[in-house]
Amino acid sequence: MKNKTGHDRQITRNWKPATQAIRGGTLRSEFGETSEALFLTSGYSYDVAETAAARFRGDDPGMTYSRLQNPTVAMLEERLCLMEGAEACRAQASGMAAMTTALLCQLSAGDHMVTARSMFGSCKWLGSELLPRFGIEVTIVDGTDNDAWATAMRPNTKLFFLETPANPTLEVADIRAIADIAHDGGAKLLVDNAFATPILQRPMEMGADMVAYSATKMMDGQGRVLAGAVLGTAEFINDTLLPFQRNTGPNLSPFNAWVVLKGLETLDLRVHRQSENALKIAQALEHRVPRLLYPHLDSHPQLELAKAQMSAGGTIISIFLDGGREQAHALLNALQLVDISNNIGDSRSLMTHPASTTHYGVGEEGRAEMGITEGLLRLSIGLEDPDDIIADLEQAIAAAGI
Ligand SMILES: *Cc1c(COP(=O)(O)O)cnc(C)c1O
Repeated sequence: MKNKTGHDRQITRNWKPATQAIRGGTLRSEFGETSEALFLTSGYSYDVAETAAARFRGDDPGMTYSRLQNPTVAMLEERLCLMEGAEACRAQASGMAAMTTALLCQLSAGDHMVTARSMFGSCKWLGSELLPRFGIEVTIVDGTDNDAWATAMRPNTKLFFLETPANPTLEVADIRAIADIAHDGGAKLLVDNAFATPILQRPMEMGADMVAYSATKMMDGQGRVLAGAVLGTAEFINDTLLPFQRNTGPNLSPFNAWVVLKGLETLDLRVHRQSENALKIAQALEHRVPRLLYPHLDSHPQLELAKAQMSAGGTIISIFLDGGREQAHALLNALQLVDISNNIGDSRSLMTHPASTTHYGVGEEGRAEMGITEGLLRLSIGLEDPDDIIADLEQAIAAAGI
């Protein structure tokens, strides 16, 4: 590789996060391109047969097949490592591919996992439906109750899995305390950090063993591609995750990796601006609705923990109305600027009714357990002028009869 590569850890590890987000992981080709190249190739060719043999033996570090290695995907993985402060990373085709890979690569029949009750709907399904099918026992606890994690620990507990802040209840779990409980019992902690991103919260610095992402959200940040990633120690990624990924193939497309690489260049700017906007909007609307949750608002029940773990409150606001689904739908239908959409982490502000969309699949009982009421609306704040968002929400709140 050419000079000024972002792949030399001797140089890149000392860079500040803003520099890593733009230059970390860059692999320049012989043409010296400034912007990362898109290597849309499934395979690689060899000058002589002996080179192919050496690569498959592991004696030559070159690439062989894009299910195993791809330069564009490798650039993204290295950049994410630097931003997270992790030793190693592998990217997957979506956030759910990342979560499924992270769980199945390390759990076997007879193992036990503990997971928080407030989770993204599909993450919840992995624990409640998929893993038990393969003889992996799962206990679901209140993620905010540290004692509940400790009580759930068994001799065969291998893994704790949580999301903080949780989607869409914005409950905050104590990463440091829960990591200690996991380690005391010989288990590991996996954190889904999609809501906070490494810009606001770095779980591995607080003791988490692995971090997984839906890069579809803030990392792409412009609502274009699905992507995911798992980060951890080199030992975990190379010895446990990689054999699973290489043989099962949940790989990220080089094109999508390239889009996310471009997204990472502005991640810090976007996360900070969108969090500032979200705080301003949360403050403006807090007293216009019966209940509003935002991690860095004085009224959040876990304000102190949220401030200790996250450098800003993030981009998501949850609003609880008293008038059930009818009123929630009326508010959504009155929006003139904010889109009705179940996605989050876009530069456009988006609002959804989780009970009838993202968390429809967990059922009424599941929703009740997670605190997802019929009057709950989740708002993902974008990059528009916050005054325009406030005006749109105020008129929609009034139109819904609140
Ligand atoms: C969106 C999301 C996922 C799933 O990611 P996809 O990229 O949609 O597969 C997982 N966890 C959280 C917290 C999410 O918000």
